[in-house]
Amino acid sequence: MLKDEDRIFTNLYGMHDRSLKGAMARGHWDGTAKILQNGREWIIEQMKASGLRGRGGAGFPTGLKWSFMPKESDGRPAYLVVNADESEPGTCKDREIMRHDPHTLIEGCLIASYAMKAHACYIYIRGEYIREREALQTAIDEAYDAGLIGKNACKSGYDFDLYLHHGAGAYICGEETALLESLEGKKGMPRMKPPFPAMAGLYGCPTTVNNVESIAVAPTILRRGPEWFAGFGRPNNTGTKIFAISGHVNAPCVVEESMSISFEELIDKHCGGIRGGWSNLKAVIPGGSSVPCVRGENMRDAVMDFDALKEKGSSLGTAAVIVMDQSTDIIKAIWRLSKFYKHESCGQCTPCREGTGWMMRVMDRLVRGEAEVEEIDMLFDVTKQVEGHTICALGDAAAWPIQGLIRNFRDEIEDRIKAQKSGRVSAVAAE
Ligand code: NAD
Ligand code: SF4
Repeated sequence: MLKDEDRIFTNLYGMHDRSLKGAMARGHWDGTAKILQNGREWIIEQMKASGLRGRGGAGFPTGLKWSFMPKESDGRPAYLVVNADESEPGTCKDREIMRHDPHTLIEGCLIASYAMKAHACYIYIRGEYIREREALQTAIDEAYDAGLIGKNACKSGYDFDLYLHHGAGAYICGEETALLESLEGKKGMPRMKPPFPAMAGLYGCPTTVNNVESIAVAPTILRRGPEWFAGFGRPNNTGTKIFAISGHVNAPCVVEESMSISFEELIDKHCGGIRGGWSNLKAVIPGGSSVPCVRGENMRDAVMDFDALKEKGSSLGTAAVIVMDQSTDIIKAIWRLSKFYKHESCGQCTPCREGTGWMMRVMDRLVRGEAEVEEIDMLFDVTKQVEGHTICALGDAAAWPIQGLIRNFRDEIEDRIKAQKSGRVSAVAAE
């Protein structure tokens, strides 16, 4: 278990002063100018050595992503864009950073922008995050007033501006290229990749899009050293990580822990265990709504990191851990996610636009037990037609939860259909 002194986010629960004065007292903004003086190459190499993988869900190596930005300017400005459009169901970790520890993010924005020669950074914050926007804007104003950002930021000779842009509540705007479109004032529709944003991003200029947590941990990594960060977790899965645990645990929480902590330790130490005990655990979605669920009995010994959860047939994703006990109608729970993805599809590509609606309608029949058993395989086939055949990851996100349901709870789906046909149970209403 992570010791208190190893936590990067020292005010995750808002128990302390989140103002600049409070943040500085807890060690933030300490020696920032010195970090910048070490130079761009040094910063990027340190980030690579830390092993930090993107905390937005995909786990792409952060230092490597920064190194994709052009070394020499071709006349176009470079940008850093922070993805604070946290909308994945179950995910509420970045919210806590912005609410209670906003200076970790602002300092990270300056350092990361400097490393990538970006003189401007945009934080795109989710439309529903109103209090978080207010807290962040207050902190940005404080940093400007103190000369930490703006002209000659931290007396480094580097000019740096930071803008906060408030989204309007569309899930798809969390997809990095849809976010860029939205930031440019257009409808939030994903672009084809490649080109990746480092080649052509905001206004067609070199851009790096990073998650809030990825940027907010950077200053501490650079202060304490990459070896310190890489000392937590396992190779290829290093560092500390914020987990957001919700559902049928005794005490749901958001907690910074060591990567690769076991699921059992995470739940017992921080959430007071599973509601009704471990034998009452039915299923877990370990990484936000777009990753497949895992049966409870297969989760207890799970290691919570990118590689280990892949072996369990799922993913760490955003580390939003959704716990479901035996009282859960798992078919209905996954149907609800299907409804969400259908609603949030931007409609730009056919497999997603048509597939999400089709999958939701079959899921609706499965919830009621009104489908034929053969439709289970047919539904699985459709998820395979959607997966990997769309412009952005929303198609995959709609397909994977259903695949997880069918792989893990086929018996329950079949039982419901059979019971319905024999008149043993009345239809379960999907409202
Ligand atoms: P992705 O794997 O396509 O890309 C991840 C990042 O790496 C992107 O920034 C991308 O530009 C970069 N990248 C990947 N390959 C590259 C290459 N060859 N060259 C240069 N850059 C490259 O994944 P994605 O579509 O950005 O994200 C999907 C994930 O987002 C899902 O796994 C899901 O967990 C997560 N997600 C998170 C939220 C949230 O609220 N945090 C919401 C929805 C989805
Ligand atoms: Fe839009 Fe869905 Fe295609 Fe993504 S996969 S671009 S959300 S239609």
